[in-house]
Amino acid sequence: MTTIPAYHPVSAPDYLPQKQLRELQSQRLQRMVKRAYENVELYRTRMTEKGVTPDDIRTIDDIVKLPFTMKNDLRDTYPYGLFASPLNEVVRLHASSGTTGKPIVVGYTKEDVDVWDEVVARCLVGYGVTDADIVQVAYGYGLFTGGLGLHGGASKLGCTVVPISGGNTERQLMLMRDFHVTCVGCTPSYFVHIIDKALQMGINMRDFPIKFGAFGAEPWSEEVRHYIEEQAGIKAFNIYGLSEICGPGVGAECCFQDGMHIFEDHFYPEIIDPATGEALPDGTEGELVLSTLSKDAMPMLRYRTRDITTIDVEPCACGRTIRRIRPIRRRSDDMLIIRGVNVFPSQIETGILRVDGASPHFQIVLDKGPDGLDRIEVRVEATPDAVDDTVASVEQFQKKIQHSISQIIGLSVKVTLVQPYTIGRSEGKMNRVVDNRNK
Ligand code: AMP
Ligand code: ZN
Repeated sequence: MTTIPAYHPVSAPDYLPQKQLRELQSQRLQRMVKRAYENVELYRTRMTEKGVTPDDIRTIDDIVKLPFTMKNDLRDTYPYGLFASPLNEVVRLHASSGTTGKPIVVGYTKEDVDVWDEVVARCLVGYGVTDADIVQVAYGYGLFTGGLGLHGGASKLGCTVVPISGGNTERQLMLMRDFHVTCVGCTPSYFVHIIDKALQMGINMRDFPIKFGAFGAEPWSEEVRHYIEEQAGIKAFNIYGLSEICGPGVGAECCFQDGMHIFEDHFYPEIIDPATGEALPDGTEGELVLSTLSKDAMPMLRYRTRDITTIDVEPCACGRTIRRIRPIRRRSDDMLIIRGVNVFPSQIETGILRVDGASPHFQIVLDKGPDGLDRIEVRVEATPDAVDDTVASVEQFQKKIQHSISQIIGLSVKVTLVQPYTIGRSEGKMNRVVDNRNK
C-alpha cells in the first residue's frame, strides 16, 4: 500500500481548487503575454502576424490564440534574442545542445531561479523526500540544467545535498554507502549503469539506505523502472523537464507513480496534433505544448516540446488538483522510420526487457541490406543468468528477444547478443541509435 507523504507547505499550489487555479493561470498568462509582447521582438512580430494583441488574452482559455514557439526560434535568436529582462537582471544562463546543431541558451532572473527551486522541491515532496534526506545529485553540473536544478530544489527543501555530478561510478557507490544517501538523482540509464557497476564489484545495492530515485531527462520504460526498483530496492520516480521551460521540475510523479503532475501554476500544458497544430482535448495523445506563466527572463509562449503524451484529468489518489501527463516514452523527432514503419527506441527497450534475464544495455543499428531495404539489428549484452557458453543457448535467447521485439514493432529484427560491458555507457542522456543507412 502506498503511504501518502506528510503535507509540506511548499506544495500548497498543488492542491488549489480548480477555479482558483484557473484564475491564477489567467492572471499570470495576461502578465506573461504583455511582458513578452513588449520586450521580445519575435513574440511581437508573431502575434502581429496572427492579429493578436495582449488585450485579446483575458483568460487561460485564450492561450490557443497565441502563436507557437519552436526550438528553431531559440537557435535563430541565439544567444539572447528571446530575453525579456535586461542582462543585469539575469543571474544564470544554461544551455542545451540537444541532438543537433547550435546550442540553445536560456536565462533566469533571481525570481526565476526561486520558482525553479520551488518546483523541484515540490517534486521531491511528492516522492516523500523530507529535510531529513541525503540527496546525491549525480546529474551533470554545468550548462545542463539537471545538476543545478535538482541541487536547488533539494537545498530549498533543506535536504543534505551531495553535489557529486555525473561520472566516476565507483566513487558514486562509495559515497552512497558512506554518506548514508537516501535519494539519488540521475538519468535512468546512468542508474542502470551504477547498478551494474555495483554487481561487478560484488556490492548489493539493496543493502544501501537509498529509498528514492529522481530519474528523468530521457524516456524510460516501466520495465526499466521495475528493474531498478528490484535491483536497488528503491522507489524509482519520474521527473520531467526541459531547458526551454526551466529544466527539471516541470512535472513529476507523486507517491502513486501514476503519471507526472505538471506544476501548472507555473507551466501551462496543452496537447496538440503534431501534424496540424490543432489543440486536442484532454485525454487525447499528442504533442505536449508548454507555456511559462511566471518566467521573467525568458517567457516561453506555447513552446512545442516534441514530447508525445496525454493529459490525464482523472483525480489522483494523492489529492493534488494539478493535472498529470502520462510518462513520455517518445518524442515526435526520435521516431525511426524503418521500411516505412514507425518505431521508437522505447518500444525496443520494452521488447527486450519483457524477456526474463535480458539486460537493459542495448544498441540499435540500422543499415541497408543488399536488396536496398532497411535492416535493423539490436545488440543486447548477454547476462550470465540468461545464457551459458553453448551456441544453442545464445541462439535460443536471441530468438526469444527477437520474437518479443517483433511482436511490438511488427517488423522482423536481428538480435545479436554481445559480451557484457561492450555497449557504451552514458553518464547523462543515452543515445542508443546508430543509423548507417545513408552512409
Ligand atoms: P534538455 O532540455 O536537454 O534537458 O532536454 C529535454 C528533453 O528531455 C525533453 O523535451 C524530453 O524529450 C526529455 N525528457 C526530460 N525528462 C524526461 C522524462 N522524465 N521522461 C522522458 N523524457 C524526458
Ligand atoms: Zn498524485
